[in-house]
Amino acid sequence: YLSTKAFKDKTHIKVGNVTFGEDKPVFISGPCCIESQEQLIKTAVEVKKSGAHVLRGGAYKPRTSPYDFQGIGKEGLKILFEAKKITGLPIISELMDIDSLDSFIEYVDIIQIGARNMQNFPLLKTLGKIQKPILLKRGLSSTVKELLLCAEYIILQGNEQVMLCERGIRTFETYTRNTMDISAITLLKELSHLPVIADPSHATGVRNLIKPMTYASIAAGADGVMIESHIKPDTALCDGKQSIYPNELKSIIEKSNQIRSVI
Ligand code: PEP
Ligand code: MN
Repeated sequence: YLSTKAFKDKTHIKVGNVTFGEDKPVFISGPCCIESQEQLIKTAVEVKKSGAHVLRGGAYKPRTSPYDFQGIGKEGLKILFEAKKITGLPIISELMDIDSLDSFIEYVDIIQIGARNMQNFPLLKTLGKIQKPILLKRGLSSTVKELLLCAEYIILQGNEQVMLCERGIRTFETYTRNTMDISAITLLKELSHLPVIADPSHATGVRNLIKPMTYASIAAGADGVMIESHIKPDTALCDGKQSIYPNELKSIIEKSNQIRSVI
């Protein structure tokens, strides 16, 4: 299996001037959804100031309800690209279907495949044929093995730049949006050479849990963390309750670096 430790020791993925899979954890932050030029650029400038390495922003949103805000599509990718020019931060956004692949190749640095598309096999095979880093999120009710096999689908076609993301799984617990499977982070690091990213925002759905779950993820061996942030989380069109203020990132990153240095 191409994703296993037996095949390769470590994969480094270089994006802009950061490298996933190296000593320092990489921080990805930004809003769940790109809402407007003003909202995104303001958030981008703030997350950059706080020390984030990569800017996120959803343009095409996989919403549970068709009545919820669906994202602004290609316009969003253009705004994200604008924010990249202003801040110098590389950018990541979620791709939902093959039809929009060309725009993603043109605009983004990392293509995110969301939990709901983890097992979209035709999509995975297509992503295997391009040369761009892919962040593959664990499915809502998927096992670690299923996640690894989906990474395998991409690598098998020739694209080795795959990162795995633990974003929580469905359990009976209702205080949190999902249950963050911290052990999966360590397991994935043991089983695979691919960088592992933690997403405490979607894993918990609770702002106050972001900080402790970030530290737990770093202690478990995560190569990076993706945290949703918004300049006005209370007015966010999506996932405001699990978004932090960008300036909160600074101390989270500093402490994470300290934790990393002692494990
Ligand atoms: C997201 O990161 O915006 C997202 C929709 O996450 P997930 O696919 O993990 O639900
Ligand atoms: Mn979100």
